Amino acid sequence: MRIVRTVDELRAALAPHRSGGIGFVPTMGALHEGHLSLLRAAAADNATVVLSIFVNPTQFGEAADLEAYPRTEEADIELAEHAGTHVVFAPSASEMYPAGFATTVSVGGALTGTLEGAVRGRSHFDGVATVVAKLLLAVQPDRAYFGAKDAQQVVVVRRMVTDLRIPVEIVTRPTSRDADGLARSSRNARLSAEERTLAAVIPRSLRVAQDAFASGIRDTSRLTALVQEGLSEAGVDQEYVEIVDADSLESLTVIARPALLALAVRVGEVRLIDNVVLDPRSDDRIILERSRA
Ligand code: AMP
Repeated sequence: MRIVRTVDELRAALAPHRSGGIGFVPTMGALHEGHLSLLRAAAADNATVVLSIFVNPTQFGEAADLEAYPRTEEADIELAEHAGTHVVFAPSASEMYPAGFATTVSVGGALTGTLEGAVRGRSHFDGVATVVAKLLLAVQPDRAYFGAKDAQQVVVVRRMVTDLRIPVEIVTRPTSRDADGLARSSRNARLSAEERTLAAVIPRSLRVAQDAFASGIRDTSRLTALVQEGLSEAGVDQEYVEIVDADSLESLTVIARPALLALAVRVGEVRLIDNVVLDPRSDDRIILERSRA
């Protein structure tokens, strides 16, 4: 496995491997099982796997959040190698944003104005789109792998790739969860033992809404109220709990098409996000299969 720090070194390292298929997993490091599941998927589909580790300053609103973001490069490199990575691209901030840098890739509309964009501001997704565009141009992969945990990010990246005709296949992988259902996140490492126990209320509350949805409730205000109640009872601070169209991310009052139930909360100082898809079509299939059985 090679570790490279500059775009020039990266391009030179990848030049001999272009014909065999390149899979790319962009991350901010502090690797956990969720990231490793993306690397393994990339290794299964591609001859060469590239991992990037870059804590992108332009997508952080609060300087304190950027500073507190865990950085564990040595451990990351070892984990990456075991997961089948061939090249790690770990650039400095000045390599990614040299003096005079003045270009922003901005995805507009509801895709970036809602959910995370509403709370963190559009500049968050400007930061994400710009760094992902830069990374895709640097790596030029055949496929890039993203986690469903950051569902809005996937929708925004897909839009950008379509709009700019970037020649890459975007692959989305399911959210990897701990045994109690909590979505794995680099930020979980910042939870105290007590907060970690409390955080299990997030997947529990989402599950209550999923069960209500499976029992036929389609009214989004009733479903979000169920999640909000669960979180409030546990004393978890809520930033948003919303149900939006899974493709357009527009607000829904009734679920007739695949929808995303997404939330952001704070457990202590730590901001956590999670989501589940509520799909009336797959739910119909489950009900049909049950009635056949
Ligand atoms: P991050 O390092 O948090 O920027 O995440 C890098 C990539 O890993 C993104 O595509 C995330 O969606 C993905 N990811 C983070 N957590 C998980 C998880 N629990 N399951 C699956 N993918 C994840």
